[in-house]
Amino acid sequence: MTTAMKPEATEEQPARRASSRSHGKRSVFDIAGRRVGGSHLALIAGPCTVESRQGTLEVAAAVSDGGASMLRGGAFKPRTSPYSFQGLGQEGLRLLAEAKERTGLPIVTELLDVRDVGDVVEVADVIQIGARNMQNYPLLAEAGRTDCAVLLKRGLAATLEELVMAAEYVLKEGNERVMLCERGIRTHETAYRFTLDLLAVPALQEMSHLPVIVDPSHAAGRRDWVEPMSLAAVAAGADGIIVEVHEEPERAICDGAQAFPAAGFADYAKRIRRVAELAGKKVSVAL
Ligand code: PEP
Ligand code: MN
Repeated sequence: MTTAMKPEATEEQPARRASSRSHGKRSVFDIAGRRVGGSHLALIAGPCTVESRQGTLEVAAAVSDGGASMLRGGAFKPRTSPYSFQGLGQEGLRLLAEAKERTGLPIVTELLDVRDVGDVVEVADVIQIGARNMQNYPLLAEAGRTDCAVLLKRGLAATLEELVMAAEYVLKEGNERVMLCERGIRTHETAYRFTLDLLAVPALQEMSHLPVIVDPSHAAGRRDWVEPMSLAAVAAGADGIIVEVHEEPERAICDGAQAFPAAGFADYAKRIRRVAELAGKKVSVAL
């Protein structure tokens, strides 16, 4: 076999770029002036879905004032039912651009379809790959060919090994800024939306050099459980938290039951900073 025909990765070292064996130390990288990894904690907050101009700008201002590192918000939404609201699409991206212009916050938004990549990269600093797309390999490769960082969510029933291998698809294209995200997995338990697997934090940090972010909102499915799980995740050593915030959660089109009201974000962020300090980290804000 010639060298050119050699397989790229061997069975013995399947995750050659994502694995900590090949890297030695933990990754720290910059996202539009915010550092992520190591002693830098990313606090990502915003609506599940971009719904309106006023609401988006209100939430953006609240999370910015409260000390968030980045603004999240979906313009393209992966919904269980095809009849549910699918997101504002292009208009949603325009609103995120306006929120970014006003607050300076980097934008985290989901890329659902490879055909939208050109529009999404115009606005996004971080491309979110949703749980349902964790193993959509063409989508991962497409995100890997952009200049955006990537937040890769764990699939609903994915093992950590599968998550790390999915990250490998992004890294293989030359994009080194990948964050892994635990967002709850499906187990036999039905008392909450998903089971938040906090052991994934130290386990992934051992398996890979990539920052590990925790999404307590989608796991809990209920606002009052989001803060305790956020604080636990930070105490467990997470490199970031992604949390849903809405200007008026009772009226949210999507995921309102788990969203914090914008008015409560600053106090929540204060408590996150206290636990971050205990964990030896600082919430990352503009340099
Ligand atoms: C979201 O972040 O709004 C979302 C849909 O997340 P997940 O892909 O983890 O369900
Ligand atoms: Mn959501």
